[in-house]
Amino acid sequence: MSEMKAVNLDEVMTAIRGSGRPNTVLWQAADSIAFVARGREFRSEFHDDPSDEVMYMIKGDMNLHYRTPDGAEKIAVVREGELIYCPAGTPHSPRFSPDAFVLVLERARRPGEDDRFTWYCEQCGAELHQSVRHVPDYRTDPVSSAYAEFYDSEANRTCSGCGHVTPRPAAKA
Ligand SMILES: [Zn+2]
Repeated sequence: MSEMKAVNLDEVMTAIRGSGRPNTVLWQAADSIAFVARGREFRSEFHDDPSDEVMYMIKGDMNLHYRTPDGAEKIAVVREGELIYCPAGTPHSPRFSPDAFVLVLERARRPGEDDRFTWYCEQCGAELHQSVRHVPDYRTDPVSSAYAEFYDSEANRTCSGCGHVTPRPAAKA
């Protein structure tokens, strides 16, 4: 790297608002990735990956849903101006509005490491669907493609335990 430049987070948020994209990657290095994301409506899955993550709420508040090793679901509230440490391997689901923005710091995936996106039945809690993918480049927006895989398939949304079908979000119906 020949030159180091500071990033202005207000400018990043303005650029994301104007772009229609859900996030922008600030940098990607082997041991450090930074991106800014706006909230997604209907964020429903739990993301489990091999990197520690630090999340800082630049604007707005987040309900960070996560699952403990025994399968209990908990919520950590992260308010604007606060940050939180999410240990590697913790299934987590960051839920916040499209008007809110988070800065996420993590590391690049190593060869053979996978990210998992898992949905659970809203009626009985059984696992519905898991999308497993290697994510060598965060600019490919793995969350959006995992969502398409889940919501575009009624079979993926049908619970084998109780038969409940998770509906598509109204905006995608
Ligand atoms: Zn079910």
